[in-house]
Amino acid sequence: MKDMYSLEGKVATITGGSRGIGEGISQAFAAMGCDVVLVARNQERIDGAVNEITGEFGTKALRISLDIREEEAIIGMVQQVSKAFGRIDILVNNAGINIRKMPQDYQVSEWDEVLETNLRSPFLSSRAVYPYMRKVGGGKIINIGSMLSIFGGAKLAAYSASKGGIVQLTRSLAVAWAPDNIQVNAILPGFIDTDLTRQARKDINGLYEHVILRTPAGRWGEPRDLAGVAVFLASNASDFLTGVALPVDGGFSINL
Ligand code: NAP
Repeated sequence: MKDMYSLEGKVATITGGSRGIGEGISQAFAAMGCDVVLVARNQERIDGAVNEITGEFGTKALRISLDIREEEAIIGMVQQVSKAFGRIDILVNNAGINIRKMPQDYQVSEWDEVLETNLRSPFLSSRAVYPYMRKVGGGKIINIGSMLSIFGGAKLAAYSASKGGIVQLTRSLAVAWAPDNIQVNAILPGFIDTDLTRQARKDINGLYEHVILRTPAGRWGEPRDLAGVAVFLASNASDFLTGVALPVDGGFSINL
């Protein structure tokens, strides 16, 4: 039963693994015996995250610095992982951004930046890992959605479109690749204390208190709150679970 959750001998690529939610998931995977590949743009931040993982957990950790919006870079990333480890078992499409503005003020370039990072890149990365997962007899893809996969917001048109889209992408990839034993699921985090939301808290008066009041658990989440679900979705314990979008939100999305 314990082995069901083990990730020993597996290799996971986590986009946006250098900080916040992605770093938390990378650490959880490493703690379960998984070799990890951390992908982001800022080399220094990746180095810091990788050194922490190798120091604490003793598993292998590879660093790849790239812009996840570039298709060529994604193809290169997957080749590099395969060359280093000989396999790819798990992909976490976590890298994401938000540009908070009223829809009427949105530039096309801003819309593209959000959609390319949050929706197009997960598709391209999933498509790129597919043949490698197939080769090893299966795999796990975990997409990171949001409460904005469910709700809308005045200054969140692009973000919510991308996060709603990722749920539908999750379902379609899950159906397409189930015969290959590849499970594709999404996690919809509630409000988690990271750089992304620290900025939002600065921009939105009262956000911190609003989240606490509305969340039945009565607090903001921490990256470690997503660790257990991510390990479950990456492990054999979830082999018959595919295409779901699981809120991990302290009850935020079910509270009237
Ligand atoms: P974060 O702390 O801002 O981290 C974002 C990560 O994505 C960083 O590692 C960043 O590294 C990477 N990244 C962004 N753009 C990239 C690009 N073009 N190419 C490569 N890497 C890129 O954000 P977070 O809060 O952990 O969010 C992680 C995911 O969870 C996002 O998809 C976000 O939408 C989602 N989410 C967050 C919350 C929350 O409350 N925090 C709630 C729901 C959903 P570089 O900047 O160095 O590239």
